[in-house]
Order: sequence, then C-alpha cells, then structure tokens
Amino acid sequence: MNTRRDFIQKVGISALGLYAFQGLGATVLSPLKHAAANGPVLRVALMGLGGYATRVAESMQQSKRAKITGLISGTPEKLKTWGEKYGVPEKSRYNYENFDALKNNPDIDAVYVITPNALHHDQVIRSARAGKHVICEKPMALNAKEGREMVDACKKTGKQLLVGYRMHFEPLTLEVHRMRTDGELGTIKFFQGLSGFRIGDPKQWRVNKALAGGGALMDIGIYALNGCRYMVGEEPAWVTAQETKTDPVKFREGVDETITFQLGFPSGVIASCLSSYNMNHLDRFFLNGEKGFAELQPASSYGPIKGRTHKGPLDIATDRPQQAVQMDEMAAIILDGKKPVIPVDGEEGLRDLVIIDAIYKAVKTGGKVQLA
Ligand code: NAD
Repeated sequence: MNTRRDFIQKVGISALGLYAFQGLGATVLSPLKHAAANGPVLRVALMGLGGYATRVAESMQQSKRAKITGLISGTPEKLKTWGEKYGVPEKSRYNYENFDALKNNPDIDAVYVITPNALHHDQVIRSARAGKHVICEKPMALNAKEGREMVDACKKTGKQLLVGYRMHFEPLTLEVHRMRTDGELGTIKFFQGLSGFRIGDPKQWRVNKALAGGGALMDIGIYALNGCRYMVGEEPAWVTAQETKTDPVKFREGVDETITFQLGFPSGVIASCLSSYNMNHLDRFFLNGEKGFAELQPASSYGPIKGRTHKGPLDIATDRPQQAVQMDEMAAIILDGKKPVIPVDGEEGLRDLVIIDAIYKAVKTGGKVQLA
C-alpha cells in the first residue's frame, strides 16, 4: 500500500539524489529554473539581516518556489554586500525609514520580517499597508493585543500574514501528527515539551525586555507551547505556571530564565512543559496515547530531527534545509491557496500569544488561568 510515509520517503530520496549529483560538480539547473513546473515563484524581501536571516537566505538558495528579490536593513554596508551576493538591485534595497515605498515595487510579493520581537508589530503592519504579504518570525508579537492588531491590519489590506513556524513543515513532525490524527496512538493522554538552551551574551536583545517582550518563553519556550497544541490537536482550556530565576543579574525584571507550565485540554489531556535560558540539551517532545507513544529529540532544532514511536525509529529522510521547505510551502500557501496540514497563519501566531499572556499571568498570580 502506498502510505503518506512512503511518499515522504520517496520525495526525500529523490531530492537527495539531486544534491548528490550537485556534489559531484556536475552542472545542475538552478531549482528556480524548474519553478514553472511547480507554479509561480514567491518574490521575497528579507527584513532584518541578522543571524536567522542569514540562515534563511542561505537555505532559500535551495527553495524551488521562493526567491530573494528585496532587502531591508538599517546598515548600508549589509544592503550592499547582501545585494551583491543575492543579486538584489539597488532599487529593491530599503532601510527602516523608507520601506513603505515597497508599494511602488512590482518585483516584491512578500516581506519576511526577521527582526527583534518588539519590532514585528509595526513592521508587519507597514509591510501589509505597502501591499505586500507578510511572513513574520516567531513570536509574532509581544502580546495578544499586538497580535490581534496585526491580524486585523493584514485582513484589512487583503494581504496574508504567515508566521515562521518552520516545524509545521518538518517531515518527522508531520508523521507524528499523521499518526495521531489517524488514531495510531489511540486516545491522547499526555504531552511533554522541553525547550531551552543556555543563552550567552547578556547584552543581546533576547535578554532585553523592551526588545524581546520577555525571556526564554518568548524565544524558545514557544516551541514547546506551539508543539503541544499541534501534537495534542486541541486548544488548551487552562494553564498554570511557575518561574525559577537563579541569575537575576543576567535575567532582569520581566525576562524569564526558566518557566514550567502546565496546560489542560477539554478532552482531559494534560501537558507539562519547560522553557529555559539556563539549560542545554533541552529539546524534546513526548506524546503519549492509549495505544502508543511518539518522541522527538531533538524536536525543534534546525535538524535533523530524530524520533521514535512505540513501533520503532522514525526513519524519514530530511535532506533539505527546513527553511527551504518552509519557503516553498509558504509560496504554495500564498500563491496557490494551499492549506497546510498544521496552520501557519496569523491566527495561529495569535493563539500562542494568548496562551503566553496567560502563562505570564499564571506566574504572577500563582493560580490557574482559564482560557476562553
Ligand atoms: P539577530 O540579533 O541575529 O538579528 C536581528 C537583526 O535585526 C539584526 O540584523 C539587527 O541589526 C536588526 N535590527 C533592526 N533593528 C534593531 C534593533 N532596534 N535592535 C536590535 N536589532 C535590530 O536576531 P535573530 O536571531 O536573527 O532573530 C530575529 C527574529 O527571528 C526574532 O524574532 C527571533 O525570535 C526569530 N528567530 C527565529 C528562528 C526560527 O527558527 N524560526 C531562529 C532564530 C531567530
């Protein structure tokens, strides 16, 4: 029988063949040259040319349906070097003051906002008002109020808002999701999500409340939270949470170092999650049902993701960078109206922000916070 898993494996293997061919130094057509066969190409302006944008830009060289055609940065030298490297002409390079002029640029379909969290709200709204679709990095905003304003603003302009949830397109993640929805794990009872790393430089924006909106939960704990929702397949009804801070100098007021949080779902499923900026080797999802279990470890790194279930190891080839796959899938969502298996739209980003607000509230009050 031809299962979806066989399909994923076949796709992975055929793509692997292509890269092996490239590795031998043979001339291979650029993936974009094949684009006509796959549909039109999404022409993307990257905003914020920092660490993650570098990874996205490099990975996009392996995208079949997404291409960098614009750049937005506050640093003129970066605009020049990135422009030359990725073939973006001067007329499609902008700074943070003048990027509203994107509205006069027919060579750009979408803006990918990859700046510190506090900037997302205004930058997304300005990009949508310039007539562009927007992909925004996680967390979509600092809180649910901002998130709602972004969703509404994009709706008003008729432009799509997507969130950079790369795991929603990751093959092992999708296989566990399929096993759960096909009933192979039985009735789900429990989820555990552990997300964290030891953060370095105490001067970086990630530990600055004004730019980050919080601490580990906004940045890395969001993977456990978001994962819990798509793994369990329900929206939580309540949350409780506890904070531990061992280094109040590095993690100042409003910047969480470690938070444990628990969620209760309408069906009775419970989830237990840990978010930390003070522990390495913390990247694990565990989903437990009446008939079996699934475990991903690492669960949300840049890959390869590894996993096993009660049936054995999850043996799926993942040869393309996650961001290349994400951008191809997002092109299909924006240009073809494709519906992803796990949503990545603004409403999805907003749901996480509502729960993040509730987790911070639960930390403060020490009580159970009900979610509407
Ligand atoms: P970074 O510090 O490496 O890059 C941020 C960029 O924004 C820099 O180029 C910086 O110059 C620019 N910038 C513009 N205005 C700024 C300001 N006022 N203060 C500081 N920098 C400013 O950060 P990053 O790791 O690239 O993270 C950017 C965004 O991407 C964040 O929202 C983060 O959560 C997200 N991110 C997502 C993933 C993922 O896997 N999806 C991974 C890393 C980061």
